[in-house]
Amino acid sequence: MRKTGRKLAAFTLAAAMVLSMAACGKKAEAPVDTTAATTAEETTVAETEAPASENQKADIVVIGAGGAGMTAAIQAVQDGATNVVVLEKMPITGGNTTRSTGGLNAAATKYQEADGIEDSVDLFVEDTMKGGKDINDKELVTVMAENSAEAVDWVNEIGGDLSVVGMFGGASVKRIHRPSDTSAVGPMLVKTLNAKMAELNIPVLLETTAQKILVDADGKVSGVTAVDKDGKEMTIDCTAVVLATGGFGANMDMVVEYKSDLAGFGTTNHAGATGDGITMAVEDGAALVDMEQIQTHPTVNPDTQTMYTEGVRGNGAILVNKEGLRFVNELETRDVVSAAILKQTDKQCYMIFDQAVRDSLSAIESYVKAGIVTEADTPEALGEAIGVDGDALAETLKTYAGYQASGTDADFGRESMEVPLDQPKYYAALCAPAVHHTMGGVKINTSTEVLKEDGTAIPGLFAAGEVTGGVHGANRLGGNAVTDIVVFGRIAGTAAEKYVMDNGGNTEPEITVAADDAAVTPEVEGGYKDGVYEGTGTGNNGDIKVEVTVEGGNITAVVLKEHGETEGIYEAAEKGVTAEIIKKQTAEVDAVSGATNTSKGIMDAVADALSTAK
Ligand code: ADP
Repeated sequence: MRKTGRKLAAFTLAAAMVLSMAACGKKAEAPVDTTAATTAEETTVAETEAPASENQKADIVVIGAGGAGMTAAIQAVQDGATNVVVLEKMPITGGNTTRSTGGLNAAATKYQEADGIEDSVDLFVEDTMKGGKDINDKELVTVMAENSAEAVDWVNEIGGDLSVVGMFGGASVKRIHRPSDTSAVGPMLVKTLNAKMAELNIPVLLETTAQKILVDADGKVSGVTAVDKDGKEMTIDCTAVVLATGGFGANMDMVVEYKSDLAGFGTTNHAGATGDGITMAVEDGAALVDMEQIQTHPTVNPDTQTMYTEGVRGNGAILVNKEGLRFVNELETRDVVSAAILKQTDKQCYMIFDQAVRDSLSAIESYVKAGIVTEADTPEALGEAIGVDGDALAETLKTYAGYQASGTDADFGRESMEVPLDQPKYYAALCAPAVHHTMGGVKINTSTEVLKEDGTAIPGLFAAGEVTGGVHGANRLGGNAVTDIVVFGRIAGTAAEKYVMDNGGNTEPEITVAADDAAVTPEVEGGYKDGVYEGTGTGNNGDIKVEVTVEGGNITAVVLKEHGETEGIYEAAEKGVTAEIIKKQTAEVDAVSGATNTSKGIMDAVADALSTAK
């Protein structure tokens, strides 16, 4: 039976603090110093022989707390990782993922089945390859499609909602999965991932920018250097790194370096999308693919850079030029629609929709609130309001209503025409293309290992999400970014944890901290008698013994004294359960998924201890 005396890891405490503050929208303080505490013996050695190492330690360092990074971290812990830390250079988590409005493409899901939608992995692969002009890495696309239905289930399991299926550009069937309240997918996903990270006590060090991925003499990953917001440098020794830094769409120098005709374009990207991960990986010998493949999003407000989700067109909107005429099948892929807009007067167009479309999509309310939608009671009045010939616009809408009724768009072959666009009020939103997604990036294989030019992997380096290249080829379909980050984020988490197990195994976090120092604090009054109590519960492999400390009437610490549980499962259960017990002041909390019996054993042991503390 293994013995353990730790309470919570220092990284864990930093996480609890940093994430809860991020969730409140507050700026987090710098994380606590996680330098390992030294024993008396070590101190003596350090004093006489050499200064103590300042390096921090983790088994897995995830760089980037966007969708891919947080998914990878959660999956790694669900697989048994005990010592994972996430670095995020911005003051909040979420990256570009937060800006994602569409949904998650997935084939052969239970939601499609319930709606009678016939779809398959093969059709999903075919659409994605066609959208990407067949230069995508078909193996990666196939893995994405094969794992997409499970990705929807996983998001639902961790508390998300992707239960409504809709139509989106480039897909031959209804395949995009969205929240049932019609809200944007990104904020829902990031909120869900943040909550799961907090529940699993996975630390995120905010405003901490990774600078270099260290490799040892054998070329294996050995650590990460980073700098915090005060400019303090740190080195975290680790076995594996998951690179999840997103793309480079906010780094216009880099964009123009790879695609010069995008000079002067706006961007839909958040400020942190500067390609750091690509630079770091290249320094370690990583190969890059498709770097010149940079996607512009066709419908972005040129003044505010607000991106109008494709859902507006998917739910029925059309595009007209400044002459009031349609000029493209609005549901064509992003590159086709963007190119068509660039041929119109002023390289701009208007997205036109009616009340029925507005009522179908809550995202539209945010555009209205932002003051970037013009409204009128008639098509003629709308035209006048935006400086377009009102009669021409009215004629365009009348013709379109006819196409919608007959089911045939004789002008541009648009197949999905949800509504006739004849319900007042009428709305117009000015659009121009802007840099949106960088399809190229670090080359990976289907296990998310980062590859060198010679095709061999950099041992211990994994990557997922927009930092990678190959999945989307020359053009990413709307809805495939979220699939990419969830599917490959999960694969990266699993692969990194397996790599750790194959290279020395999980470590115990090194620091023991008093509960007083912990960021985990009671959310309610406990009402117990002060004291230290011992209790026993039954886990998967026999007894689990705990020591519960009650101070000031509240449970302030739960220390696991003995157990025989499987390594990894036990740690995951402990991390998830003990923090919740302290927060909720009861032994009855939710079990950690994947570690249910061990969680219950810990809870029973705490309940046993508390039975004498009433
Ligand atoms: P993906 O969709 O691939 O997850 P996101 O843009 O959502 O990409 O997330 C990437 C995250 O990585 C962002 O939050 C970004 O701020 C962060 N990031 C980028 N570069 C660094 C870096 N050098 N160190 C730490 N975090 C970084």
